[in-house]
Amino acid sequence: MIRILLIGPPGAGKGTQATYIAKKFGIVSISTGDIFRENVKNQTRLGRIAESYLDAGQFVPDSVTNEMVRGRLGQNDAHNGFLLDGYPRTLGQVDFLDEVLASTGQELDLVLQLTAETEELVQRLLLRAKLENRSDDTAEVIRNRMALYFNETTPVTSRYGERGILTKVEGVGSISDVSARVSTALDIALGSSSRHIAVSAGDSFEWALQL
Ligand code: ADP
Repeated sequence: MIRILLIGPPGAGKGTQATYIAKKFGIVSISTGDIFRENVKNQTRLGRIAESYLDAGQFVPDSVTNEMVRGRLGQNDAHNGFLLDGYPRTLGQVDFLDEVLASTGQELDLVLQLTAETEELVQRLLLRAKLENRSDDTAEVIRNRMALYFNETTPVTSRYGERGILTKVEGVGSISDVSARVSTALDIALGSSSRHIAVSAGDSFEWALQL
């Protein structure tokens, strides 16, 4: 059972690494960005509220985002651990998540922060805009999202740093390079319980004991 947060600037490849980590630990991956986009697509009540914020590259108000996350974490598939991708992004969301978890006797195990140079990120997002035709990937909106990330999320990572559960991983290079780095960082940060995951049936007993 493991509870992980994945934090990183727009374009750092959070979605890809989220899928990788969720698979590695057999946990559900919950992306607030994906949930919002899905709701906008289906024009639900939530989607109609979120739409203008997404299109402007602004955060959806905490009150809306928090309640959505509370509901999602209450679902059965999140009871055996989870990875939250893109939440919390504000100190208000950090406090809210603390309360939700405390009220159900849960604790975070790890906060993983993907890092990358701003210029590299902007280039990646402009490329993705062409490929995926996302309405929040125009040059102006990208600049907004980047500034917002650094202003709002830096205090969030500092908070988790103070708690001693923050691990930073460089998000540059190929997807498999980053996944390998993420995997090593997780093994080190989570200690022996996760290292056992690396022990496959074919490995000798001595080797397993050394881990
Ligand atoms: P990115 O990290 O590339 O900005 P996401 O898919 O994580 O992309 O988020 C897309 C948009 O969804 C954000 O720009 C914001 O409008 C909204 N959003 C996602 N997560 C949150 C959050 N935790 N709080 C407020 N708004 C959010």
